[in-house]
Amino acid sequence: DNEVDSGFDVVVVGGGPCGSTVSTLIAMQGHRVLLLEKERFPRYQIGESLLPSTVHGICRILGVEEELRQANFMPKRGGTFRWGSNPEPWTFSFAISAKFAGDAATAYQVERMRFDQILLDNARRKGVEVREETSVVDVLTDPETDRVCGVRYTGPDGVRREVRSRFVVDASGNKSRIHTRVGGQRRYSEFFRNLALFGYFEGGKRLPAPNQGNILAVAFDAGWFWYIPLTPDLTSVGAVLLPEALDRAQGDREQALLDLIQQCPLIAEYLANARRVTTGPYGEVRVRKDYSYIQEKFWRPGLVLVGDAACFIDPVFSSGVHLATYSALLAARSINTVLRGGADETACFEEFEVRYRREYARFHDFLVAFYDMHQDENSYFWKAKKVTNNAASEVESFVELVGGGASQEAALVSAGTYAQRRDAAYQELADLVAQPVQQAGEDRDLLRATLARSVSREGARIQIQAELGESADENVPVRDGGLVPSTDGLHWSTPPRPAS
Ligand code: FAD
Repeated sequence: DNEVDSGFDVVVVGGGPCGSTVSTLIAMQGHRVLLLEKERFPRYQIGESLLPSTVHGICRILGVEEELRQANFMPKRGGTFRWGSNPEPWTFSFAISAKFAGDAATAYQVERMRFDQILLDNARRKGVEVREETSVVDVLTDPETDRVCGVRYTGPDGVRREVRSRFVVDASGNKSRIHTRVGGQRRYSEFFRNLALFGYFEGGKRLPAPNQGNILAVAFDAGWFWYIPLTPDLTSVGAVLLPEALDRAQGDREQALLDLIQQCPLIAEYLANARRVTTGPYGEVRVRKDYSYIQEKFWRPGLVLVGDAACFIDPVFSSGVHLATYSALLAARSINTVLRGGADETACFEEFEVRYRREYARFHDFLVAFYDMHQDENSYFWKAKKVTNNAASEVESFVELVGGGASQEAALVSAGTYAQRRDAAYQELADLVAQPVQQAGEDRDLLRATLARSVSREGARIQIQAELGESADENVPVRDGGLVPSTDGLHWSTPPRPAS
């Protein structure tokens, strides 16, 4: 039985946050998008602690920011860590970073069954055709050009069908069946060979206000715990075990989790009066392992990997959904630009891959240093400044990175805050450059005077970047000859020529 279905520009495989995001951002340009999802939603998924970049950047572009506000998710102001050589817990707030001012300083802890449903329903409303209980089994390849040109799938009726499209996006997560079709291999991290064992508790203690919604991460001799408040009563609790402690997850899962909790005094204290949830989707104690990896290639003509299908890195900074939704934005730009016509496909997808790898690498390199438990938080902040090459203070660089705001993307930070500040800086500069140099000195501060002395707009641009951080200007390509986001943020364009 082999029906052929055609007429789609894009087929997206998987309806998690990544698949919903990429499909919506393409459909919003009027292209025809089909999304195939194996499960019927709502379905369980781990990954509950979100970053401001997702909530106030991507979700704003998707048009669900207000719906999320109404959904009553637990507000998350930052993180509290008992980590490294400091025996006392330390707390950071997203508000420390200029990129997350005002509303954008609060992200959410979400029940993924609800969050993912909101994004998938929004995709439908924005014109994506969504088919659930539909499992993709392979890609179709054009024998003449070797280009991927569709997928083979099994629908709810069990019938196998084919659908053709100009692009296939694999957003089917860590269990993707088609990611190898881009070529190359999935490379598992030698460093992050951890295992996570997790479940849900009711009645756990909360951090003192205003940090009651923070993620709490607590290191202990076998690894570390996450403690994520999902509602005032419900808490997601997981142990991440280092390779040398994997034997502690042997045997009965529930008993292993309860034993581990007793080995970590702060978590034991927080759960002293709590009950483990034993029924419904939160009733199971689950295990995940081998979850830190990166595919050698992210695309080939007709096929692109995004989200967990492409790569994932250890969850200590809750970067999974951020990387998934950011890569979705990058891929949507590439596809939108090619579908609009006249663009160089290779250049568009290389831009996607370079930027995605950079963001992944920032988290990876930082996390390697963060797992060195002999350091204190100041040393971690210093490392964050190094990997982000940021001009801001060390602690700000850290918060910017772990909030998902280290790339030079206005799209990932709230429209009203950072971008405005940057634009204001440019305007001020333009005014100053227009004045004779002598007038600018004396009564103005050093930065302004220096800016005024700039002979070209480009030189001044670099100085503003130095002041606001390397990542200040999204009009500067991230590599020689690279592309930059278009004004609408949903395509690529060639960078504006520097004034001479
Ligand atoms: P998914 O959410 O996995 O969605 C993929 C979808 O594709 C699924 O709905 C699946 O049913 C569907 N699918 C699969 N195969 C097929 C097929 N053949 N055909 C059709 N559909 C298919 N991230 C955070 O942001 N914060 C956290 O606190 C966090 N904690 C984590 C803790 C652990 C232990 C782990 C392992 C991960 C954690 N993550 C966290 C990461 C997070 O789970 C993922 O990064 C995120 O879910 C990726 O989104 P996605 O859309 O790429 O994939």
